[in-house]
Amino acid sequence: MALFSDNVSAAKPSPDPLSQDRRITKAVRLAPADSCRNTDATPTNGMNLSQTRTSSLGFPRPTTFGGTSSLNIAVLPLTFSDLPYRESDHAALQAAMREFKRYYEAMAYGRTVINYQVVALSDAVRMPGTARSYGAFDEYVDLERVVRESLANASPTLRLSSFDMVALEMARNESVKFWPVAYTNSVESSSGRIGGAVLAGGWQGANWRAIAHEVGHVWLGLEDLYDMSPSPQYDGTFWEYDLMNSFRGSAPELTAWHRFLLGWLDNPQVRCVDSVTARKTTHYLAAIADQNSLPKMVAKPLSPGRTLVLESRRRRGYDNVDDSVLVYIVDSTRRGGDGPIEAKAELTLNRNRKPRLDRYVIPVGPTVRVEGIVIRLIASSKWGDLVEVVQS
Ligand SMILES: [Zn+2]
Repeated sequence: MALFSDNVSAAKPSPDPLSQDRRITKAVRLAPADSCRNTDATPTNGMNLSQTRTSSLGFPRPTTFGGTSSLNIAVLPLTFSDLPYRESDHAALQAAMREFKRYYEAMAYGRTVINYQVVALSDAVRMPGTARSYGAFDEYVDLERVVRESLANASPTLRLSSFDMVALEMARNESVKFWPVAYTNSVESSSGRIGGAVLAGGWQGANWRAIAHEVGHVWLGLEDLYDMSPSPQYDGTFWEYDLMNSFRGSAPELTAWHRFLLGWLDNPQVRCVDSVTARKTTHYLAAIADQNSLPKMVAKPLSPGRTLVLESRRRRGYDNVDDSVLVYIVDSTRRGGDGPIEAKAELTLNRNRKPRLDRYVIPVGPTVRVEGIVIRLIASSKWGDLVEVVQS
């Protein structure tokens, strides 16, 4: 009997008392969420990008095919004479796509609907060349040629043009070492144009995270958060936070900033602090892994394209991390793949936590000073955190 009632109370958490704390600054005293819709300031080096669909870390969002409230994606296995696509690959791919859907619908807090169709094994595309000839055994595959030739050889009965985009998948094989990739332009198929494509498989075969990361570029116009210079460093500037940083990391929950960009946060969930806001403000942040209507982000624009962000991370959902308030700077003056988000601190009241000792060290403690702004963690609960922000 006791066990039964425990289960019931665990399944229906009451609202966090911390979210009602009297110290919290009233929303009317903050800046409107629109004041925090900072631009993307990546230098274009004189190129006119207005006709190109590019990824971006700012507002306004680049136009992709269908907006962020739905995705219709066809999943197309590719078979080669030297890399045949097998029934076991197909079963693994179907399981991966179930996870793909579950992930994105959770990241959007129910504000998106994912429809996918894994085409039948008998409709796997028989590719005209060997996998080796496309570079699949090397680091960089000939994406353009794979996309063009797979779509030209796909059965017209699949009616691929009725989908937003396609995910192309090769068989699982450890010696097929190409990096999963995104094709962000629209492309001709045997039944008309489609909005873009991703390609994965080989050593990353049937990996839902690899597919979801690449789809994040094509569907959502998101950038790579990792630091490619001098070579891929997945602990570059943002440790393992966010799927667009590392598809092998332990914290793939999308950041609050990404969800803000994608329209997956409502304005009242954004606590925007700017120069006209009081010098000292106090905020409750609900864990980003939890679906509720509580605030998820404190943001403060620093300059055009640069924004300071705070969010609450918990060992829940897709994250396997120590609880903390993650403090970071979105710096869109750095291009994608150049570490455009930089972690500044993991705030915790746990005195036993050690700083992360990676190539890039993230300070750990109850307070941090970032560009003259002092951020202090006042209290924490299982569900969220209370933070104070003092502007200089
Ligand atoms: Zn990427």
